[in-house]
Amino acid sequence: MPITFLTLPLTLYTKIILCYNGGMVDREIVDRIATQLGQARQVLVLTGAGISVASGIKTYRGPAGMWNDAQLLAAHHADALPGSLPIIWATKGPVRAQALAALPNPAHLALAQLEQQLATRDGQLTIATQNIDGLHQKAGSKNVLELHGSVLRSRCSDPGCVLPPFPDQTIPPANGPLPTCPRCNQPLRPDIVLFGERLPAPAIDLAKHLSHQADILLVVGTSGVVHPAAGLIEKAATWGAQCYLINKDPWENPHPGITQTLLGPAEQILPQLI
Ligand SMILES: [Zn+2]
Repeated sequence: MPITFLTLPLTLYTKIILCYNGGMVDREIVDRIATQLGQARQVLVLTGAGISVASGIKTYRGPAGMWNDAQLLAAHHADALPGSLPIIWATKGPVRAQALAALPNPAHLALAQLEQQLATRDGQLTIATQNIDGLHQKAGSKNVLELHGSVLRSRCSDPGCVLPPFPDQTIPPANGPLPTCPRCNQPLRPDIVLFGERLPAPAIDLAKHLSHQADILLVVGTSGVVHPAAGLIEKAATWGAQCYLINKDPWENPHPGITQTLLGPAEQILPQLI
């Protein structure tokens, strides 16, 4: 009988189907993790820019990333405030417009679905995200810790001002006047964490706490370079969690706490796991 695509063994089909960008995800591994997720009570998910690429959100790192521009990088440091606010708004205004227009992709939707599934059996899924695009909430996720803030909120640039951060869809005009605080008239800033600033304590403290309780930690679409990925993996692994990395590229220095790496786009892998 001639060898055709139809006569190839089933396992080979599976490997072909699960082969992305040169990475290989084994069906057995996918099934095993899916079973574990189906039985887990506490799941912690750490997400980074990679999960939002399929929604059209640009990444900051990598060859075409924003942080390759040294001037832009310096302007996003807390020490450069308040003089850097025009550059920050010129950069983050378009990012806000992009986030407002973007739609969650199958990876965001799969996590929202898993959160619902866990809730029905008295479990809990929490997402700690490094993204500022609000796409997890748009997908329907309720337990979201925004480690780097949200571009969809603004706050006063005067740390002493009592105005709390507020949802804001305004896109300040390029080269126009800066938006100002309705209480003190100082310029507003996007409610995001700049370089040199601490991560918001309630979000990072809760993420650390949950990493002690997690049965499973999913690390999705993050390079691992940025704190606190490594710390959370360390804690979760020490306290007995299975840690899975889902990323387009392998990490240069894989963290020893990672049980298994699934290489490929999150929007293709996550729906298979859930
Ligand atoms: Zn103010």
